Amino acid sequence: MEHLSTNIQYLKGVGPKRASKLRKLGINTIEDLLYYIPRDYDDRTQFKTLRECKIGEKASLEVEILGEANIIRPRKNLSILKIPVRDISYNGYLVWFNQEFLKNKFFIGERLVVNGKINRVGRELQIVNPIYEKVGRKEKVGRIMPIYPLTEGITNNEIIKLVENALEKYLYNVDEFLPKDIIEKYNLMRVQDAIYNIHFPKSKDLLERAKRRLSFQELLILQMGLFLIKNKNLNHKNGISFKKINEVDEFIEGLPFSLTNAQRKVVKEIEEDMEKDVQMNRLVQGDVGSGKTVVAVIAIFKAVMSGYQAVMMAPTEILASQHFESLKKFYKGYDIEVELLIGSIPQKKKEEILSRLKDGSIDVIVGTHAIIQDNVEFNKLGLAITDEQHRFGVKQRAVLTQKGDNPDIIVMTATPIPRTLALILYGDLDISIIDELPPGRKEIETYAVGPDMINRINKFIEKQVVEGRQAYIVCPLIEESDTLTIKAAEELYINFRDNIFPNFRVGLLHGKMKPKEKDYIMEEFKNHNIDILVSTTVIEVGVNVPNANIMVIYNAERFGLAQLHQLRGRVGRGNYQSYCILINESNNPISRERMRILQSTTDGFVISEKDLELRGPGEFFGTRQHGLPELKIANLFTDMDILKLAQKEAMDIIQKDPKLEKRNYQKIKMRIQQLFSGSGKEIVFN
Ligand code: ADP
Ligand code: MG
Repeated sequence: MEHLSTNIQYLKGVGPKRASKLRKLGINTIEDLLYYIPRDYDDRTQFKTLRECKIGEKASLEVEILGEANIIRPRKNLSILKIPVRDISYNGYLVWFNQEFLKNKFFIGERLVVNGKINRVGRELQIVNPIYEKVGRKEKVGRIMPIYPLTEGITNNEIIKLVENALEKYLYNVDEFLPKDIIEKYNLMRVQDAIYNIHFPKSKDLLERAKRRLSFQELLILQMGLFLIKNKNLNHKNGISFKKINEVDEFIEGLPFSLTNAQRKVVKEIEEDMEKDVQMNRLVQGDVGSGKTVVAVIAIFKAVMSGYQAVMMAPTEILASQHFESLKKFYKGYDIEVELLIGSIPQKKKEEILSRLKDGSIDVIVGTHAIIQDNVEFNKLGLAITDEQHRFGVKQRAVLTQKGDNPDIIVMTATPIPRTLALILYGDLDISIIDELPPGRKEIETYAVGPDMINRINKFIEKQVVEGRQAYIVCPLIEESDTLTIKAAEELYINFRDNIFPNFRVGLLHGKMKPKEKDYIMEEFKNHNIDILVSTTVIEVGVNVPNANIMVIYNAERFGLAQLHQLRGRVGRGNYQSYCILINESNNPISRERMRILQSTTDGFVISEKDLELRGPGEFFGTRQHGLPELKIANLFTDMDILKLAQKEAMDIIQKDPKLEKRNYQKIKMRIQQLFSGSGKEIVFN
């Protein structure tokens, strides 16, 4: 029996050197290679006659060699080899550049099938750099050929050869692990056929069926795994059971505002979870400004009053500092010790904090990701909260769990997503939704304008600043280039400071500044020592300056809808009428449609659905960003229909057989275990 888990190094054609190249592509075993999905295909099945071909098109043709090869050398380093041919419709030439060695390969009267790009030079039809073979061979021409993602030092043809070798020797060992009834119910291709056809599809139709089968299995396994993790969490009575204490109600009564109904509902869900002896794993979704922080504040209060420590993580230092400040304010008058731990704190102070955290004299620690590092030890961690942290996945939650004795966990996010996606991206979590904004908020007025309006906008900013308000000016990240981004921000800043608003206090904030500088600028803005803050998207999450009521976003067309919505959430936090002005420099109808959506609604749920429709799931909706295993073939957006089927099936199976004990699920069970192994969240069935 040849095992699929065999190291790729032992495949025919692979030695140590090539194996290391393959490992770069994530191919460690034979099975990895069998599941190495082409990124695209070269369809060489469409046979045409020369007369039918369009110029510039790639086509397969059957031709006959008419005469001798002819070589021209128009300049140094360039030789053109031309061989006259004809097909049943017309005469033409096979043309190769710098491949003189082909000159004597063919004989007059020989018939070939070729595939190449059709070109016209003067009155000549040429088939340029064609792939060729003998008629009837069907190795290269007349097939759909895979195009693989590559890395340096390995070519597509080499991978094709290796895949052929692997298929030849190992395909018959690939085990059908889906039960027969599922295969029949969804009319799925069998796994061996699917793997074969994903590499070398016999037809477009079979390729589609192969994709469907493999996407289905991938989504089914992932979804089942997530449901199993969730079930396991629910069944394990090893969580902390926090006491029901009256102080929490008193604390809520004493808040400077009364909670919205939505906040009350979510607080209740969290309290109930905390009182149960199973570990809480809850996602709190709520639009920007819906008041998630206070919900966290209450949960932390409950944990601390029950004698436990709590941790609150934020994605940036600015946000962490801000949470630290507001926690201190909320807990004023209570004996709750709150500390801030971020990179910019001096080493000595850090060490002191770490030791007080360890001996239990700190109750609540706020910080960035740094607070789940190895050297951070708690005395009695009971609750861990992460804010605005989309990239906080199964694995990191597992790390946190080990920092305490199965502490309760809350993840807060302002990016709402449709249920189908939430089920998979947050499939192992319970979900609470704050679907109501605190009362008295004035709707933010949003305008999308062209760059010709910039002068009028500046006048408007001036008027507001004179009245005592503050403004954000946001400029986009530039094509992954930090330097260019910062340069653009600096230029804008200098222009505002020196030319446009010489009488106002203008500040600059960008991601590459030292944390200390950032904090300082943010602090200055908060204290109204800065009127106008020019910034990159670093202000995207969380910062709260109620006196700021204008946001102008330059090149708004470069942002995602969800991101614009998030940015816009920085204003409209106080009692002043707030404005968001989107400067759209693009005439593209999709950009205009996106601007229109933002003008027409401030409901984050609506916006995220439209965003998905318009641009697909993109970065944010990838499984990896959510700390889940990477999807190799399925696409959460384009395969939404398959996702729904897989989810329904996963749910049915888990309901019927929560621990997957039935014989026909044993093989799926192994696949699930395999998928999640190494995720830090091993799925153990017992
Ligand atoms: P987000 O959900 O975006 O994190 P925050 O928690 O920062 O929102 O809350 C936004 C603002 O609304 C804060 O100034 C907060 O104090 C205030 N707030 C929260 N809940 C209420 C409420 N029930 N009534 C009035 N103001 C509230
Ligand atoms: Mg928040």
